Amino acid sequence: MSENKKLPIGSVIGILGGGQLGRLLSISASQLGFKTHIFDPDPKAPAKQVTNLSSTFDYKDKRALENFANSVDVITFEFENIPVETIQICAELTSVFPNVNALSICQDRTNEKKFLNEMNIPSSPFVPAKSFQEILQSVHVLEPPLILKSSRFGYDGKGQKIIYSKEEIEGAASEFNDRPVILEKLIDFNLEISIIICRDMFGKIAVFDPAENLHENGILIESKVPASIPFSLASDAILIASKIVNALEYVGVMGIEFFVTKENKLLVNELAPRVHNSGHWTQSGCLINQFEQHIRAISGWPIGNGKRHSNVLMQNVLGSNVKLLDRNSNSSTNIYGKDDPKDGRKMGHKNYIR
Ligand code: ATP
Ligand code: MG
Repeated sequence: MSENKKLPIGSVIGILGGGQLGRLLSISASQLGFKTHIFDPDPKAPAKQVTNLSSTFDYKDKRALENFANSVDVITFEFENIPVETIQICAELTSVFPNVNALSICQDRTNEKKFLNEMNIPSSPFVPAKSFQEILQSVHVLEPPLILKSSRFGYDGKGQKIIYSKEEIEGAASEFNDRPVILEKLIDFNLEISIIICRDMFGKIAVFDPAENLHENGILIESKVPASIPFSLASDAILIASKIVNALEYVGVMGIEFFVTKENKLLVNELAPRVHNSGHWTQSGCLINQFEQHIRAISGWPIGNGKRHSNVLMQNVLGSNVKLLDRNSNSSTNIYGKDDPKDGRKMGHKNYIR
């Protein structure tokens, strides 16, 4: 797509994945005058409540994917666990952003860690392991405390186990049934931050201010801006994020999570090749939020500058808390339209001006 080939109003944006991120992307796309087509195997996927077209098929259904790709003008995805083959089928027929190489690196922690190491970007020390035996061996290389993470399909801290001593390794390893994993040093960090960055198809970059994130049991509870970090650290995080999206020739929004160590050093925790929960504050803190920014980038439209006009606190609404939700007017409220408020499930979020 060249600069004079912006997607015209009325074009159809295809979104693989119909969770809350797909839903919020779909709303932003319609605000820009686009139509959307959500592809998700779940007929009740939340994004299907706010889209013009939807398809309910497995991500491996080639015929359905071809029909989907032929019905849209550009394709994106809202989560990283979309099979690479799915993207390859779509990319034969239409443009897909972000690219498949970025997806395959970011959907597998082993690939992601190797990529970061090759780029000399600091992250926590790790060893990959592909079997029960390899996990047992790895404690000879890295001393506990460690965190064992499945290499793929983890989210909200699922598929993770903390190992405090060598004695715990066998029990932990047995839970992973020879699935590929990584063992990572458990970092005693000061705080967690994230950068939401956008790169357009012409190589222009825009960054939102770093958010300070609070997790409990691996689940994001709240994000706030500005983060309580020095300017120099914020600049370093922005430089690292820019290096990553440039190296991947990335188009769209990416979320990058960091640990800030006790020594005020940055370690990249993980890369999310999509809009990110810790960027929901941008809906209340920026003229163009992360969802509109992503749709603009993949459509060849000019992207916003990322400047923050307000200080924001974003709080997730988890599980049955959604039933108690106070819909007062001192916050902006987003409810995702999910039926089943299971414990820890992300049901919505609220933004407050701080
Ligand atoms: P999500 O995709 O929802 O961000 P996830 O399941 O992919 O989460 P991570 O981001 O790797 O998992 O971990 C979730 C949280 O667990 C982190 O934000 C952090 O609070 C904690 N954590 C993860 N890795 C480490 C580590 N090496 N040291 C200390 N804490 C960690
Ligand atoms: Mg994470």
